[in-house]
Amino acid sequence: MKRVVQILLTLLLVFSAASCGKKLYTPGSYEGAAPGIHGKDVIVEVSVDEKEIKEIKILQNEETPGLSDAAFERIPKAIIDGQTLAVDTVAGATYSSKAIIAAVTEALAAAGADIAALSEGKAEADVVTAATENLEADVVVIGAGGAGLAAAVSAHQNGATVIILEKMPQVGGNTIISGAAYNAVDPERQEPLGIEDSIEKHFTQTYEGGDKLGEPVLIRTLVENALPTLHWMESMGMEFKDGIFTVLGGLWPRAHKPVKPLGTGYIETLMNYIEKNEDSILLLTDTRATNIYKDKDTGRVTAVKATGPDSTILAQGNKAVIIATGGFGNDVEMREKYNKIWPSLKNIKSTNHPGATGDGLALAEQVGADLIGLEHIQLLPMGDPDTGSLAGNIEQGVENRIFVNKEGKRFVDEGARRDVMTKALFEQEDDFMWIVLDSHNYPTMDTKNNFNETIGELVEQGRAYMADTLEELAEQIDVDPENLKAAVAGFNAAVEKGGPDKFGRTLFDEKIDTPPYFAGARMPTVHHTMGGIKINTEAQVIDTEGNVIPGLYAAGETTGGIHGSNRLGGNALPDIHVFGKIAGANAAAE
Ligand code: ADP
Repeated sequence: MKRVVQILLTLLLVFSAASCGKKLYTPGSYEGAAPGIHGKDVIVEVSVDEKEIKEIKILQNEETPGLSDAAFERIPKAIIDGQTLAVDTVAGATYSSKAIIAAVTEALAAAGADIAALSEGKAEADVVTAATENLEADVVVIGAGGAGLAAAVSAHQNGATVIILEKMPQVGGNTIISGAAYNAVDPERQEPLGIEDSIEKHFTQTYEGGDKLGEPVLIRTLVENALPTLHWMESMGMEFKDGIFTVLGGLWPRAHKPVKPLGTGYIETLMNYIEKNEDSILLLTDTRATNIYKDKDTGRVTAVKATGPDSTILAQGNKAVIIATGGFGNDVEMREKYNKIWPSLKNIKSTNHPGATGDGLALAEQVGADLIGLEHIQLLPMGDPDTGSLAGNIEQGVENRIFVNKEGKRFVDEGARRDVMTKALFEQEDDFMWIVLDSHNYPTMDTKNNFNETIGELVEQGRAYMADTLEELAEQIDVDPENLKAAVAGFNAAVEKGGPDKFGRTLFDEKIDTPPYFAGARMPTVHHTMGGIKINTEAQVIDTEGNVIPGLYAAGETTGGIHGSNRLGGNALPDIHVFGKIAGANAAAE
């Protein structure tokens, strides 16, 4: 702890020293106001001399007594101590904190301050709530999605005590709401089904499917460890169905489907382990990591600061810190900043949970990490038109369904890469398509899709359409019946022939010929961010000079360099578990 405080003090000194010398303000006292939690203004008076903010008086405060006291005690002090506006809000008094900061900002603007400079960066001498908790463990994990929980379990299995910090009220991140397909070359399951596969094929498809932009050694680590890591999960109780399937954009039948819906099986399995080991794994939800610190002398990452529900937490990782904060698919600003490939993604919905805002990238940058491939943002052609979610998706696998546009015509190889299919969808009217399939996929109305929804309930809710003939289906979804019949006939002919068809499609199984027929609407949706923190095969974080940052690991969607420009469907679940497991084991061995 002492070391962390020392680092803070050093940074504070450096910061104050940097501001000496030039005239920053027009001396005097200035008023500023900003609305607080009840809409009533918080009014402050700020006194400055040429170089310093001297005093902040609260002239009016009608915030909730008790709840906001800490903000009024701490924020003015933090602004003066740090000579900065970039102070953290006080946990539990966010609105009041923001009002005070905004009011002081207005007053300082009147004093001629450079507000941008004052607001830059995070102050190191920032607000510490009344209760600051100092915690300590061998390993601190940031993020409790699949990668973070796998890392925590793995670290613990290797003898470490662990603290997990999760900013949301619940664990699971994107993992728990994912389609959950897990790619692994698995002769035991594939051979009885007559599926030929090899590690080499999985490697090549992953590498080439990402336009050869992925790091070959990382891909090798992924494909070689996918099956052993699946077995590791099974050894903890994870259950997969017997069948193997081709997931959307997965290019080959090597996807395993969990017995439990969506990604719940993965998270439950890891959480079971964690709950059984509560004495040595501490999980804190509602706790957002904001800063990572490294020791000034050794360069080793030592601690994480986080904002908890009632306190600031300083979590010291005596051995290491692991970043597993997921991607930035739900951060519109970051999407706009990095997207180079797609049309504007501003108004495109996302499959992601609200916490997928790329926090890990900023955290890693604080300690000099290299970020790579951020322009590689994956969209799926599979979003619910209203929500962007994958829920309501009626496809059961690649082989037995087609896509048609508003005219009822096919437009792409439906077994292609995700980016290829989504680009083709953007060229259709209203970026809109229907998935069309038949009862081979839904033998009964109680048959469920991948999201625990029965086809019966989807039809009843108007989220899927059902008819006994293709003509009737076409009428229901308002596409030309002749076009729809021709599309299905063309597909069926290709199934008979074994392909490839005129779109180059090679993945077929059953014809679409057995009523009832079904259709479901889909649109492009932002799904996965392939870029992120640069790591090596040991999940160690690499800095901008190519060196390992001691004591820092990263795993999961927050990392970059594995999937290149396009991630194969079904490769995310092995990615997060494989690298999470490696990160945890290595962190414990530091
Ligand atoms: P992955 O698949 O890589 O595990 P997920 O999206 O499943 O990614 O999980 C990432 C988790 O990290 C989410 O639960 C998310 O809420 C959490 N998280 C993101 N940013 C922070 C942060 N700053 N502090 C703590 N947890 C975070």
